[in-house]
Amino acid sequence: MAPSSNPAYLQISNLWKAFGEFHALKDVSLDIKEGEFVCFLGPSGCGKTTLLRAVAGLDLQSRGTIRQGGRDISTLPPSKRDYGIVFQSYALFPNLTIAKNIAFGLENTKRPKAEIEARVKELLALVGLPDQANKYPSQLSGGQQQRIALARAIAISPGLLLLDEPLSALDAKVRVHLRHEIKELQRKLGVTTIMVTHDQEEALSMADRIVVMNHGVIEQVGTPTEIYRHPKTLFVADFIGETNKLQARATNKNGVAFGTGELRCAPHSFDADQPVIAAIRPEDVIPHETGFKSGEAHNLIDVVIGEMEFLGSFWRTRLRGKKLGDEVLFADFSINAARRLGLAEGGFLTVELPAERLLVFPQGGD
Ligand code: ATP
Repeated sequence: MAPSSNPAYLQISNLWKAFGEFHALKDVSLDIKEGEFVCFLGPSGCGKTTLLRAVAGLDLQSRGTIRQGGRDISTLPPSKRDYGIVFQSYALFPNLTIAKNIAFGLENTKRPKAEIEARVKELLALVGLPDQANKYPSQLSGGQQQRIALARAIAISPGLLLLDEPLSALDAKVRVHLRHEIKELQRKLGVTTIMVTHDQEEALSMADRIVVMNHGVIEQVGTPTEIYRHPKTLFVADFIGETNKLQARATNKNGVAFGTGELRCAPHSFDADQPVIAAIRPEDVIPHETGFKSGEAHNLIDVVIGEMEFLGSFWRTRLRGKKLGDEVLFADFSINAARRLGLAEGGFLTVELPAERLLVFPQGGD
Protein backbone atom coordinates (compact mmCIF):
# COMPACT_ATOMS: atom_id res chain seq x y z
CA MET A 1 0.00 0.00 0.00
CA ALA A 2 1.39 3.39 -0.94
CA PRO A 3 1.58 6.02 1.80
CA SER A 4 -1.81 7.74 1.83
CA SER A 5 -2.62 11.41 2.10
CA ASN A 6 -4.82 10.80 5.16
CA PRO A 7 -3.97 12.51 8.44
CA ALA A 8 -1.01 11.07 10.30
CA TYR A 9 -1.36 7.56 11.68
CA LEU A 10 1.28 8.24 14.28
CA GLN A 11 1.61 11.73 15.74
CA ILE A 12 4.52 12.51 18.00
CA SER A 13 4.11 15.96 19.52
CA ASN A 14 6.65 17.98 21.49
CA LEU A 15 8.31 14.95 23.01
CA TRP A 16 10.98 15.42 25.65
CA LYS A 17 12.93 12.73 27.44
CA ALA A 18 15.29 13.47 30.29
CA PHE A 19 17.68 11.06 31.98
CA GLY A 20 18.52 13.07 35.08
CA GLU A 21 19.91 16.38 33.85
CA PHE A 22 20.50 15.05 30.36
CA HIS A 23 17.90 15.59 27.63
CA ALA A 24 17.95 12.69 25.19
CA LEU A 25 14.96 14.11 23.27
CA LYS A 26 14.30 17.82 22.98
CA ASP A 27 10.88 18.84 21.74
CA VAL A 28 10.60 16.23 19.01
CA SER A 29 7.51 16.39 16.78
CA LEU A 30 6.85 14.08 13.88
CA ASP A 31 3.89 12.82 11.85
CA ILE A 32 3.99 9.41 10.19
CA LYS A 33 1.41 8.45 7.59
CA GLU A 34 -0.37 5.13 7.43
CA GLY A 35 1.65 2.61 5.43
CA GLU A 36 4.84 4.66 5.53
CA PHE A 37 8.28 3.18 6.11
CA VAL A 38 10.23 5.70 8.17
CA CYS A 39 13.84 5.38 9.31
CA PHE A 40 15.26 7.16 12.35
CA LEU A 41 18.86 7.77 11.34
CA GLY A 42 21.68 9.40 13.24
CA PRO A 43 24.97 8.87 15.02
CA SER A 44 25.33 6.97 18.26
CA GLY A 45 23.64 8.77 21.14
CA CYS A 46 21.44 11.04 18.99
CA GLY A 47 18.25 9.74 20.62
CA LYS A 48 16.81 7.48 17.93
CA THR A 49 16.42 4.44 20.18
CA THR A 50 14.95 6.60 22.95
CA LEU A 51 12.33 7.88 20.48
CA LEU A 52 11.46 4.38 19.32
CA ARG A 53 11.21 3.13 22.90
CA ALA A 54 8.86 6.00 23.75
CA VAL A 55 6.61 5.00 20.84
CA ALA A 56 6.72 1.41 22.12
CA GLY A 57 5.99 2.49 25.71
CA LEU A 58 9.21 0.78 26.88
CA ASP A 59 10.39 4.13 28.24
CA LEU A 60 7.97 6.89 29.06
CA GLN A 61 8.65 10.36 27.75
CA SER A 62 9.10 13.16 30.27
CA ARG A 63 6.76 15.45 28.36
CA GLY A 64 4.77 15.43 25.14
CA THR A 65 2.19 13.18 23.53
CA ILE A 66 2.02 10.26 21.14
CA ARG A 67 -1.14 9.39 19.23
CA GLN A 68 -1.63 6.28 17.15
CA GLY A 69 -4.66 5.95 14.89
CA GLY A 70 -6.21 8.96 16.60
CA ARG A 71 -5.84 7.43 20.09
CA ASP A 72 -3.63 9.01 22.74
CA ILE A 73 -1.23 6.22 23.70
CA SER A 74 1.24 8.44 25.58
CA THR A 75 0.88 6.71 28.93
CA LEU A 76 -0.30 3.25 27.90
CA PRO A 77 1.89 0.30 28.94
CA PRO A 78 3.46 -1.66 26.05
CA SER A 79 0.92 -4.47 26.35
CA LYS A 80 -1.93 -2.05 25.64
CA ARG A 81 -0.27 -0.61 22.53
CA ASP A 82 -0.70 -1.96 19.03
CA TYR A 83 2.71 -2.82 17.60
CA GLY A 84 5.13 -5.62 16.83
CA ILE A 85 8.82 -5.12 17.49
CA VAL A 86 12.08 -6.65 16.28
CA PHE A 87 15.33 -6.02 18.13
CA GLN A 88 18.92 -6.24 17.00
CA SER A 89 19.42 -9.43 18.98
CA TYR A 90 16.88 -11.86 17.60
CA ALA A 91 15.41 -12.42 21.05
CA LEU A 92 13.82 -15.74 20.13
CA PHE A 93 13.03 -18.25 22.88
CA PRO A 94 15.82 -20.83 22.58
CA ASN A 95 13.81 -23.65 24.13
CA LEU A 96 10.81 -23.23 21.81
CA THR A 97 10.54 -24.43 18.23
CA ILE A 98 10.33 -21.88 15.43
CA ALA A 99 6.60 -22.53 15.11
CA LYS A 100 6.11 -21.98 18.86
CA ASN A 101 8.17 -18.82 18.75
CA ILE A 102 5.98 -17.36 16.03
CA ALA A 103 2.80 -18.56 17.71
CA PHE A 104 3.78 -16.99 21.04
CA GLY A 105 1.84 -13.73 20.64
CA LEU A 106 -1.04 -15.47 18.89
CA GLU A 107 -1.62 -17.84 21.77
CA ASN A 108 -2.43 -14.91 24.03
CA THR A 109 -5.21 -13.95 21.63
CA LYS A 110 -7.06 -17.19 22.48
CA ARG A 111 -7.55 -18.18 18.87
CA PRO A 112 -8.41 -21.79 18.02
CA LYS A 113 -5.35 -24.04 17.68
CA ALA A 114 -6.03 -24.82 14.02
CA GLU A 115 -6.22 -21.13 13.18
CA ILE A 116 -2.93 -20.46 14.94
CA GLU A 117 -1.26 -23.32 13.08
CA ALA A 118 -2.53 -22.01 9.76
CA ARG A 119 -1.32 -18.51 10.58
CA VAL A 120 2.14 -19.77 11.57
CA LYS A 121 2.36 -21.68 8.27
CA GLU A 122 1.35 -18.57 6.38
CA LEU A 123 3.92 -16.44 8.21
CA LEU A 124 6.71 -18.96 7.63
CA ALA A 125 5.93 -18.89 3.91
CA LEU A 126 5.80 -15.10 3.99
CA VAL A 127 9.33 -14.83 5.40
CA GLY A 128 10.61 -17.51 3.02
CA LEU A 129 11.21 -20.28 5.59
CA PRO A 130 8.34 -22.71 5.05
CA ASP A 131 10.26 -25.82 6.16
CA GLN A 132 11.73 -24.63 9.43
CA ALA A 133 8.72 -24.94 11.75
CA ASN A 134 10.10 -27.74 13.91
CA LYS A 135 13.66 -26.52 14.25
CA TYR A 136 15.03 -24.60 17.21
CA PRO A 137 16.52 -21.08 16.92
CA SER A 138 20.09 -22.35 17.40
CA GLN A 139 19.70 -24.45 14.26
CA LEU A 140 19.10 -21.37 12.12
CA SER A 141 21.52 -18.75 10.81
CA GLY A 142 21.39 -15.18 12.13
CA GLY A 143 19.55 -13.97 9.03
CA GLN A 144 17.00 -16.78 9.33
CA GLN A 145 16.48 -16.06 13.03
CA GLN A 146 15.84 -12.43 12.23
CA ARG A 147 13.21 -13.43 9.66
CA ILE A 148 11.53 -15.51 12.34
CA ALA A 149 11.64 -12.53 14.72
CA LEU A 150 9.96 -10.54 11.97
CA ALA A 151 7.30 -13.21 11.47
CA ARG A 152 6.65 -13.17 15.21
CA ALA A 153 6.36 -9.38 15.23
CA ILE A 154 3.77 -9.28 12.45
CA ALA A 155 1.86 -12.39 13.58
CA ILE A 156 -0.99 -10.46 15.18
CA SER A 157 -1.12 -7.97 12.26
CA PRO A 158 -0.10 -4.98 14.38
CA GLY A 159 -0.88 -1.43 13.35
CA LEU A 160 2.75 -0.50 13.72
CA LEU A 161 5.98 -2.40 13.13
CA LEU A 162 9.01 -1.20 15.09
CA LEU A 163 12.46 -2.33 14.01
CA ASP A 164 15.37 -1.51 16.31
CA GLU A 165 18.57 -1.95 14.27
CA PRO A 166 17.27 -5.31 13.05
CA LEU A 167 20.11 -5.89 10.60
CA SER A 168 23.16 -4.65 12.42
CA ALA A 169 24.16 -8.01 13.94
CA LEU A 170 24.21 -9.69 10.52
CA ASP A 171 27.08 -9.94 8.08
CA ALA A 172 27.15 -7.57 5.11
CA LYS A 173 25.76 -9.86 2.39
CA VAL A 174 22.88 -11.15 4.50
CA ARG A 175 22.12 -7.60 5.57
CA VAL A 176 21.74 -6.36 2.00
CA HIS A 177 19.59 -9.34 1.10
CA LEU A 178 17.32 -8.90 4.13
CA ARG A 179 16.93 -5.18 3.44
CA HIS A 180 15.09 -6.03 0.24
CA GLU A 181 13.04 -8.73 1.88
CA ILE A 182 11.91 -6.53 4.76
CA LYS A 183 11.03 -3.70 2.40
CA GLU A 184 9.08 -6.03 0.14
CA LEU A 185 7.24 -7.56 3.07
CA GLN A 186 6.43 -4.12 4.47
CA ARG A 187 5.00 -3.04 1.10
CA LYS A 188 2.98 -6.21 0.79
CA LEU A 189 1.50 -5.84 4.28
CA GLY A 190 1.17 -2.06 4.12
CA VAL A 191 2.10 -1.89 7.80
CA THR A 192 3.32 1.48 9.08
CA THR A 193 6.93 0.87 10.00
CA ILE A 194 9.65 2.67 11.93
CA MET A 195 13.20 1.40 11.73
CA VAL A 196 16.08 2.70 13.82
CA THR A 197 19.43 2.55 12.09
CA HIS A 198 22.80 4.26 12.08
CA ASP A 199 23.49 2.89 8.61
CA GLN A 200 22.83 5.58 6.02
CA GLU A 201 22.77 3.14 3.11
CA GLU A 202 20.15 1.06 4.87
CA ALA A 203 18.00 4.15 5.45
CA LEU A 204 18.44 5.42 1.89
CA SER A 205 17.53 2.09 0.35
CA MET A 206 14.58 1.19 2.59
CA ALA A 207 12.81 4.31 3.82
CA ASP A 208 9.95 6.26 2.28
CA ARG A 209 11.12 9.07 4.55
CA ILE A 210 14.21 9.46 6.68
CA VAL A 211 14.25 11.31 9.99
CA VAL A 212 17.79 12.51 10.61
CA MET A 213 18.50 13.07 14.30
CA ASN A 214 21.37 14.73 16.10
CA HIS A 215 21.78 15.56 19.80
CA GLY A 216 18.15 14.80 20.64
CA VAL A 217 16.57 16.92 17.90
CA ILE A 218 15.33 16.23 14.40
CA GLU A 219 17.65 17.90 11.90
CA GLN A 220 15.62 17.05 8.81
CA VAL A 221 12.79 14.86 7.60
CA GLY A 222 12.54 13.97 3.94
CA THR A 223 12.58 11.33 1.24
CA PRO A 224 15.96 9.71 0.65
CA THR A 225 16.58 11.87 -2.42
CA GLU A 226 15.53 15.08 -0.63
CA ILE A 227 17.84 14.29 2.25
CA TYR A 228 20.73 13.38 -0.03
CA ARG A 229 20.27 16.10 -2.63
CA HIS A 230 18.95 18.94 -0.51
CA PRO A 231 20.42 18.62 2.96
CA LYS A 232 19.26 21.50 5.14
CA THR A 233 22.29 21.47 7.37
CA LEU A 234 25.95 20.66 7.06
CA PHE A 235 25.46 17.88 9.59
CA VAL A 236 22.94 16.18 7.29
CA ALA A 237 25.13 16.73 4.21
CA ASP A 238 28.08 15.22 6.02
CA PHE A 239 26.34 12.37 7.81
CA ILE A 240 24.54 11.04 4.74
CA GLY A 241 26.98 10.36 1.99
CA GLU A 242 30.24 12.25 1.90
CA THR A 243 30.88 15.87 1.20
CA ASN A 244 33.74 18.29 0.76
CA LYS A 245 33.59 21.04 3.38
CA LEU A 246 35.48 24.00 2.01
CA GLN A 247 36.24 27.19 3.90
CA ALA A 248 34.87 30.00 1.78
CA ARG A 249 33.23 33.41 1.90
CA ALA A 250 29.95 34.48 0.43
CA THR A 251 30.10 36.98 -2.42
CA ASN A 252 26.49 37.47 -3.41
CA LYS A 253 23.36 35.38 -2.89
CA ASN A 254 24.47 32.98 -5.62
CA GLY A 255 28.18 33.09 -5.15
CA VAL A 256 31.11 31.98 -3.00
CA ALA A 257 34.84 32.46 -3.21
CA PHE A 258 37.72 30.32 -1.99
CA GLY A 259 41.07 31.52 -3.21
CA THR A 260 41.31 33.78 -6.19
CA GLY A 261 38.10 33.03 -7.98
CA GLU A 262 34.41 33.41 -7.41
CA LEU A 263 32.12 30.49 -8.10
CA ARG A 264 28.40 30.29 -8.60
CA CYS A 265 26.55 28.21 -6.06
CA ALA A 266 23.04 27.24 -4.99
CA PRO A 267 21.09 30.26 -3.68
CA HIS A 268 21.82 31.16 -0.06
CA SER A 269 21.04 33.93 2.36
CA PHE A 270 24.51 34.97 3.52
CA ASP A 271 25.80 38.51 3.18
CA ALA A 272 28.81 39.33 1.08
CA ASP A 273 32.13 38.56 2.79
CA GLN A 274 30.52 36.38 5.46
CA PRO A 275 32.67 33.30 6.13
CA VAL A 276 30.80 30.15 5.11
CA ILE A 277 31.34 26.48 4.37
CA ALA A 278 30.80 25.46 0.76
CA ALA A 279 29.91 21.80 0.38
CA ILE A 280 29.96 19.59 -2.66
CA ARG A 281 29.86 15.82 -2.88
CA PRO A 282 32.96 14.19 -4.40
CA GLU A 283 30.85 12.45 -7.06
CA ASP A 284 29.33 15.77 -8.18
CA VAL A 285 32.67 17.13 -9.39
CA ILE A 286 32.73 16.77 -13.19
CA PRO A 287 36.09 16.08 -14.88
CA HIS A 288 37.04 17.68 -18.22
CA GLU A 289 40.27 17.60 -20.16
CA THR A 290 42.71 20.20 -18.97
CA GLY A 291 42.09 23.66 -20.37
CA PHE A 292 38.46 22.82 -21.16
CA LYS A 293 36.35 25.91 -21.90
CA SER A 294 32.68 26.17 -22.55
CA GLY A 295 30.11 28.92 -22.73
CA GLU A 296 27.69 26.69 -20.88
CA ALA A 297 29.80 25.31 -18.07
CA HIS A 298 30.46 27.74 -15.25
CA ASN A 299 32.61 27.05 -12.27
CA LEU A 300 35.55 25.60 -14.15
CA ILE A 301 38.67 25.16 -12.06
CA ASP A 302 42.12 24.16 -13.22
CA VAL A 303 43.58 21.70 -10.78
CA VAL A 304 46.55 19.51 -10.23
CA ILE A 305 45.89 15.93 -9.20
CA GLY A 306 47.34 14.87 -5.88
CA GLU A 307 46.90 11.36 -4.51
CA MET A 308 44.64 8.98 -6.39
CA GLU A 309 43.05 6.16 -4.46
CA PHE A 310 41.54 3.18 -6.27
CA LEU A 311 38.25 2.26 -4.62
CA GLY A 312 37.05 -0.52 -6.91
CA SER A 313 34.33 1.15 -8.93
CA PHE A 314 35.86 4.64 -8.93
CA TRP A 315 38.96 6.69 -8.21
CA ARG A 316 39.03 9.08 -5.29
CA THR A 317 41.33 11.98 -6.12
CA ARG A 318 42.68 14.92 -4.15
CA LEU A 319 42.72 18.11 -6.19
CA ARG A 320 44.42 21.44 -5.59
CA GLY A 321 44.05 24.65 -7.58
CA LYS A 322 44.46 28.41 -7.37
CA LYS A 323 40.73 28.98 -7.37
CA LEU A 324 40.45 26.66 -4.37
CA GLY A 325 42.85 28.66 -2.23
CA ASP A 326 44.35 26.37 0.42
CA GLU A 327 41.52 23.90 0.23
CA VAL A 328 41.87 20.34 -1.05
CA LEU A 329 38.93 19.12 -3.11
CA PHE A 330 38.07 15.43 -3.02
CA ALA A 331 36.57 14.22 -6.28
CA ASP A 332 35.41 10.76 -7.33
CA PHE A 333 35.83 9.83 -10.96
CA SER A 334 34.58 6.72 -12.70
CA ILE A 335 37.10 4.24 -14.03
CA ASN A 336 36.01 5.19 -17.56
CA ALA A 337 36.45 8.93 -17.01
CA ALA A 338 39.87 8.35 -15.47
CA ARG A 339 40.94 6.23 -18.44
CA ARG A 340 39.48 8.63 -21.02
CA LEU A 341 41.21 11.62 -19.48
CA GLY A 342 44.41 9.72 -18.67
CA LEU A 343 44.30 10.81 -15.04
CA ALA A 344 47.50 10.32 -13.09
CA GLU A 345 49.00 11.69 -9.90
CA GLY A 346 50.74 14.97 -10.64
CA GLY A 347 48.69 15.48 -13.82
CA PHE A 348 46.50 18.44 -14.70
CA LEU A 349 42.78 18.55 -15.10
CA THR A 350 39.92 21.01 -15.40
CA VAL A 351 36.95 20.28 -13.18
CA GLU A 352 33.49 21.72 -13.08
CA LEU A 353 31.57 22.27 -9.85
CA PRO A 354 27.91 22.44 -10.91
CA ALA A 355 26.43 25.50 -9.20
CA GLU A 356 23.29 23.71 -8.04
CA ARG A 357 25.44 21.08 -6.33
CA LEU A 358 27.61 23.60 -4.51
CA LEU A 359 25.74 24.22 -1.24
CA VAL A 360 26.53 26.89 1.29
CA PHE A 361 26.21 26.51 5.06
CA PRO A 362 27.13 28.61 8.08
CA GLN A 363 30.53 28.00 9.60
CA GLY A 364 30.55 25.89 12.73
CA GLY A 365 27.22 24.44 11.62
CA ASP A 366 27.94 20.78 12.30
P1 ATP B 1 22.91 4.18 19.58
O1 ATP B 1 22.94 4.05 18.09
O2 ATP B 1 24.27 4.20 20.17
O3 ATP B 1 21.97 3.23 20.23
P2 ATP B 1 20.89 6.22 19.88
O4 ATP B 1 20.80 7.32 18.92
O5 ATP B 1 19.91 5.13 19.76
O6 ATP B 1 22.36 5.64 19.86
P3 ATP B 1 19.87 6.55 22.52
O7 ATP B 1 20.06 5.11 22.94
O8 ATP B 1 18.51 6.98 22.19
O9 ATP B 1 20.84 6.86 21.32
O10 ATP B 1 20.47 7.47 23.65
C1 ATP B 1 20.42 8.88 23.57
C2 ATP B 1 21.20 9.45 24.72
O11 ATP B 1 20.53 9.16 25.94
C3 ATP B 1 22.60 8.87 24.86
O12 ATP B 1 23.47 9.94 25.21
C4 ATP B 1 22.48 7.89 25.97
O13 ATP B 1 23.69 7.79 26.69
C5 ATP B 1 21.38 8.49 26.84
N1 ATP B 1 20.61 7.44 27.50
C6 ATP B 1 19.87 6.48 26.90
N2 ATP B 1 19.28 5.68 27.81
C7 ATP B 1 19.67 6.13 29.03
C8 ATP B 1 19.42 5.73 30.38
N3 ATP B 1 18.61 4.70 30.65
N4 ATP B 1 20.00 6.43 31.35
C9 ATP B 1 20.80 7.49 31.09
N5 ATP B 1 21.07 7.92 29.84
C10 ATP B 1 20.54 7.26 28.82
